[in-house]
Amino acid sequence: MFEKILIANRGEIALRIQRACREMGIKTVAVHSEADAEAKYVKLADESVCIGPPQSTLSYLNIPAIISAAEVTDSEAIHPGYGFLSENADFAERVEQSGFVFIGPRAETIRLMGDKVSAKDAMKASGVPCVPGSEGSLPDDQDEIIRIAKSVGYPVIIKAAGGGGGRGMRVVHTEAALLNAVSMTKNEAQTAFGNPMVYMEKFLENPRHIEIQVLADEHGNAAFLGERDCSMQRRHQKIIEEAPAPGLDPKLRDKIGERCAEACRKIGYRGAGTFEFLYENGEFFFIEMNTRVQVEHPVTEMITCIDIVQEQVRIAAGEKLSFKQKDIRLKGHAIECRLNAEDPYTFVPSPGRITVYHVPGGPGIRVDSHVYQNYVVPQYYDSMIGKLIAYGATREQAIARMKTALSEMVVEGIKTNVPLHQDLMRDAAFVQGGTSIHYLEHKLAAAKKAQ
Ligand code: ADP
Repeated sequence: MFEKILIANRGEIALRIQRACREMGIKTVAVHSEADAEAKYVKLADESVCIGPPQSTLSYLNIPAIISAAEVTDSEAIHPGYGFLSENADFAERVEQSGFVFIGPRAETIRLMGDKVSAKDAMKASGVPCVPGSEGSLPDDQDEIIRIAKSVGYPVIIKAAGGGGGRGMRVVHTEAALLNAVSMTKNEAQTAFGNPMVYMEKFLENPRHIEIQVLADEHGNAAFLGERDCSMQRRHQKIIEEAPAPGLDPKLRDKIGERCAEACRKIGYRGAGTFEFLYENGEFFFIEMNTRVQVEHPVTEMITCIDIVQEQVRIAAGEKLSFKQKDIRLKGHAIECRLNAEDPYTFVPSPGRITVYHVPGGPGIRVDSHVYQNYVVPQYYDSMIGKLIAYGATREQAIARMKTALSEMVVEGIKTNVPLHQDLMRDAAFVQGGTSIHYLEHKLAAAKKAQ
């Protein structure tokens, strides 16, 4: 096992990885920007290195600075967390070339899955069902594009092959709007992702977002850890996640989960990963794979009792998976609310000093957060300040515990989206379970109209 790991990230996930390492007796190195020098997890780390100014391009995305930090601290491995460099194949390659272990899949796997067109091709070849659409990326020939859209059937969605973070997508309802939408998405894709390739999918009108968590070692073993429902989204960004997905037939889960595990074995996947699907009328359609730990991993940990971050570390150290598929039992229900420093209704970010901070507790409550009283939420990064996770024997109990936890949560000095979560925990459709990915947008639009 490693003696020392460098954590190339910030915020709650940096603290989460640090806790996993500490439990395993591994020393940690925190790298941080000038804006995060006072963060508690930086102080709690065994060592820390400042890697640059606040702007992430100059610090958390600064590959040479991170590699030199690993060198000067004699780290053996680098955990990239999520976001930042976690799905950057060049970074993974540079880490390994510099003699460190990258805690994640091989660079070529990240590259394969980072291009959504090649990812879909690989999935189709492995027997994972995909959203119907164009074969590969769209050609230049305009008549051909029109023909493809006709055969897929409107509405369609044009998506950037290199897209991510909910950007680079455009829905098209009619042939008249098609070619313009394709060229606009191409231009955007070139500017935002440096890759003008786009592809077409059938736009599913009322799907849920259900994803499968996998773990695979380099010895050819792979297992799935059940699913998560992440349908509560705004602007394609998840806000609430839960496991298991309400009302999903366990037989269907096992079938799709087994396909994902088999795909991992086929492509030689290594590490933790997530297969994201849209789910409509009892059918799963693959949209993309994330080759890293995800924000919402705790809900799976709660119902499986498997520490996903520690498994990532063990796999990277060359160990075999410590369990078999038949050992994985899903027990109870877990819900996660992402806590953001933002106005709960306009969603305008609200950085600044937290003047009062009280976290909830009690049975089944887990708080993954790096903030504390007097902490200043910097303006430079994502607005997420933590995650509130409630576990219960049943979904009803998890919701009841989440309601209590939200009512106990006190954050003053900045605005947070706690009131929105309180609203959603009382929402009849959410309480029933199984809402689609458009539910929250529709609810917010209706509330605005009523004002
Ligand atoms: P990103 O990598 O930017 O997150 P995804 O391909 O994972 O992009 O899609 C993000 C979200 O966009 C999905 O969760 C869903 O809400 C929506 N979406 C993507 N593809 C489709 C589709 N074919 N039909 C309907 N909605 C879609």
